[in-house]
Amino acid sequence: MKIAVLKEVAAGERRVAATPETVKKFVALGAEVAVEAGAGATASIDDAGYAAAGATVGDRGAVLGGADIVLGVQGPDPATLAGVAPGAWVVAGLNPFGERARVDAYAAAGLEALAMEFMPRITRAQSMDILSSQSNLSGYKAVLDAAAEYGRAFPMMMTAAGTVSAAKVFVMGVGVAGLQAIATARRLGAQVSATDVRAATKEQIQSLGAKPIFVENVAGIEGEGSGGYATEMSEEYQKAQAELVSSHIAKQDIVITTALIPGRAAPRLISDAQIATMKPGSVIVDLAVEQGGNVEGAVAGEIVERHGVRIVGHRNVPSRLAADTSALFSRNLYNFLSAFWDKDAGKPVLDEEIGDAIRLTQGGKVVNARLLG
Ligand code: NAD
Repeated sequence: MKIAVLKEVAAGERRVAATPETVKKFVALGAEVAVEAGAGATASIDDAGYAAAGATVGDRGAVLGGADIVLGVQGPDPATLAGVAPGAWVVAGLNPFGERARVDAYAAAGLEALAMEFMPRITRAQSMDILSSQSNLSGYKAVLDAAAEYGRAFPMMMTAAGTVSAAKVFVMGVGVAGLQAIATARRLGAQVSATDVRAATKEQIQSLGAKPIFVENVAGIEGEGSGGYATEMSEEYQKAQAELVSSHIAKQDIVITTALIPGRAAPRLISDAQIATMKPGSVIVDLAVEQGGNVEGAVAGEIVERHGVRIVGHRNVPSRLAADTSALFSRNLYNFLSAFWDKDAGKPVLDEEIGDAIRLTQGGKVVNARLLG
């Protein structure tokens, strides 16, 4: 059983799919691990670290030759995977909806593509969940990115020269990233409020010491679909939410948006007219910018200014903390593969519940219900 770890090639991708810690653990399971030279450089891991952990380090061709499992952060181009074992697994964040043509190419190449972001949100798979591990650090980084653009302090400070007032931070979308954004902004001393369409988040917001801002008495408030994800809201709800948000937003210094609906474009939460009501010098961070954006005028990969408000749209926020996000991503991959490791077979053998959820291609065909349905 040979596991290949590739150097990421996507622009701006600094993470890596294995660390010396996980290499060591794979080797302990009996696997041979080959790491592409320089794979960890942008995540502060040198080749010697991988070699010391028991991996062979080589060029891409040598690493892929005969590999049974290819690990990546993002999905590798199927055309660059020559030499892998027939039916090899490609295990990575494969962006199945956004990169559908690539999924078809995995099928055509006879590869078995396993999309880690389709991991079901069930208790036993929590330690394998890349969306959670990466979103958590994105939520943290979003607050630091906002603080860096904000020309004022976050905490209230009483100084001999007078008082500096606390920043008002509003978090829209209280999933994994939003919860961490609330906690981080609180730690920095901001006054924090937050909103979501899922009523269950109200208590979570309060438990972090922030103020919930919620639409009341409108049908469809539950907002929760399968797996704890959000569903699209009724028109009536969306209108009520827009009104509530409008009056609240005008008083905020920082807004962090994280709202996503799986398989759809991100919901639009802030209009240009609402931005115009904010004070000059305010900052908005749109964590959903690559999924279509929660904020009108946000541009992926840029910081733009509208009405004196800075709108931050960094791409691939997890990659901005590559050492930590790589460590967590790598553990997610190890936790997944080791949980299914069959000692006799000397390789992982998936069960139906998780296998069917994450397997995109098999036997030359696309087989995943979410892509076929
Ligand atoms: P996500 O990234 O899909 O979305 C972020 C947040 O945006 C969600 O809270 C969503 O409700 C919210 N949202 C969507 N539309 C909105 C709108 N119009 N206005 C305001 N907010 C809006 O979410 P996530 O971080 O992946 O978390 C989704 C759920 O899954 C949470 O309940 C989380 O606790 C749960 N979860 C469960 C597990 C598990 O293994 N059991 C693991 C991770 C997350």
